[in-house]
Amino acid sequence: APRPLLVSACLLGLTTRYDGASKGSLSVQALLQQLALIPVPICPEQLGGLATPRLPCCFTAGDGEALLRGEARLCDSGGIDRSAAFVHGAHQALEIARLAGCRCALLKERSPSCGSHQVYLGQECSAGRGVTAALLAQQGVALFSEDELPALRQHLLASSSQNTESRQKFLAT
Ligand code: SF4
Repeated sequence: APRPLLVSACLLGLTTRYDGASKGSLSVQALLQQLALIPVPICPEQLGGLATPRLPCCFTAGDGEALLRGEARLCDSGGIDRSAAFVHGAHQALEIARLAGCRCALLKERSPSCGSHQVYLGQECSAGRGVTAALLAQQGVALFSEDELPALRQHLLASSSQNTESRQKFLAT
């Protein structure tokens, strides 16, 4: 049966980015089609109530994991603290993952919401997670970036054969 995959909306070609553009990817489209996945688009920054276009935001300290512990801040380029909107958007994205039954997500790297391995700390790219990526990971959602499509493909193929095996075991009992 087709499976849902949580995907950063901008990677699906939706114009959700801070500058009003998208980051649509033909490789992402091809993977969705090949594996008959149903994309479940999320834009945590829009879900958090931020406008599009909006000022770019970056961490002034720490990353998404630290921010969820109240130990970091995210400010826009005008210096306004947007941390609360990012946390709200992360919880909304998690709720969508639950509603759609997504155990795996494909997220835009280096975003302060969606980055799963890297984010911007000031002007510098640094190891860390965005706020939504951190919350999803805490809840056991497997995260992949657009730079990891082969690994995502392997993960999905392996988990679909596990599902088939467990279904067969279930039917045999
Ligand atoms: Fe894309 Fe995530 Fe940024 Fe929304 S918050 S524009 S989905 S990277």
